[in-house]
Amino acid sequence: MIHRQPSYYSNFRCLGGACPDTCCRDWDIVLDQKTLADYQTAPASLAQQLQASLTTDEDGDTCFRLDDRGFCAMLTEDGLCAIQKEWGESHLCEHCGAYPRFVEEYGSLTEASLALSCPEVARLVLNAPSFQVIQEDDDQPDLPFPDIPPQLLEGLDIHRQKALTRMEQEQCSIWERIQDVLSMAHALQSIIDTLEYSLLTEPMVITSLQQSSASCRTFVQSLCRLFASLEPLRASWPQRLEQCRQRLEQLTEEEYQSLCRAFEAQVPKWQRHLTNVTEYLIFRHWHKTVNDDQLYPRAAFIASSGLLLYHLFLVQWDQSRNLTLDDEITICCAFSREVEHMEENLETVIDACSTLSPTSIPFPNP
Ligand code: SF4
Repeated sequence: MIHRQPSYYSNFRCLGGACPDTCCRDWDIVLDQKTLADYQTAPASLAQQLQASLTTDEDGDTCFRLDDRGFCAMLTEDGLCAIQKEWGESHLCEHCGAYPRFVEEYGSLTEASLALSCPEVARLVLNAPSFQVIQEDDDQPDLPFPDIPPQLLEGLDIHRQKALTRMEQEQCSIWERIQDVLSMAHALQSIIDTLEYSLLTEPMVITSLQQSSASCRTFVQSLCRLFASLEPLRASWPQRLEQCRQRLEQLTEEEYQSLCRAFEAQVPKWQRHLTNVTEYLIFRHWHKTVNDDQLYPRAAFIASSGLLLYHLFLVQWDQSRNLTLDDEITICCAFSREVEHMEENLETVIDACSTLSPTSIPFPNP
């Protein structure tokens, strides 16, 4: 069986009480039966607090109660989990024990990844010198994967590698690279739609498409509206999007172009950072096409997310003519938490992006 993970995966260490945020906030953590049974044997010092911290959600599942600020009732003053602190990591529920790690299994292929919603992961992703995937074969027999046509997965795999390779070709601007990935996904989608999956593994010539002449500034305002219309976890996310939209609306086209040039000159790492995040998104979302045959909508979501994040960085920088790594981490975590982790939000954005043709997405001028 093949196992893959991004090269920074093994460098992850939870920041614990030193974390600038916490994953013990906002999310309804549904507890598995094994954990609930384990809680019956909790030490006396913890048992009462545990009982008082459990509640039932609208689906009837048992989960941790959140306080008025959205913090988990088991979170201590020093930012640590009382269960982990007093009883040990092995007593965490499945969700808390795994986060921010997650594993996708595709029969013969297992891919481990780290969620960008964790600030330490965002730091690792942004700071990586390049996005590299490590692969190992454990020589164990492949598991059957009966529901997925093998040629679909193979075709997706071949072309995702091409997309990641294209994203590393820094002689072109990130926008040209993203547009080529978009155009490849569009061509692949027309094959997927015919269900002739065997054609996905045959050589394909992808031609670069004409850039849209529409205003990128106006397009990103519509993206801000779309993302702000989703169900928020924290009010700060739609506020940030609205602030970005308003700032772009205030600018003339000429002022916008000159702001982009000044930002790019003063924050030279922006392109490497955004490339890493785009590749993280390609790695994480591309193969989900096996579930619904929708590759192009995912590629359009990734391209739109790259554009949105660029403009959130730009507007943040514009406020004080400074963009720190912590600023970028905050923006990336918020994006991931509000979009990637909220299934309905992700579906809504991917659906909306499916209506964008590859030539209708305008990118900033190179
Ligand atoms: S968000 Fe990440 S670094 Fe912070 S407490 Fe959770 S796992 Fe640790």
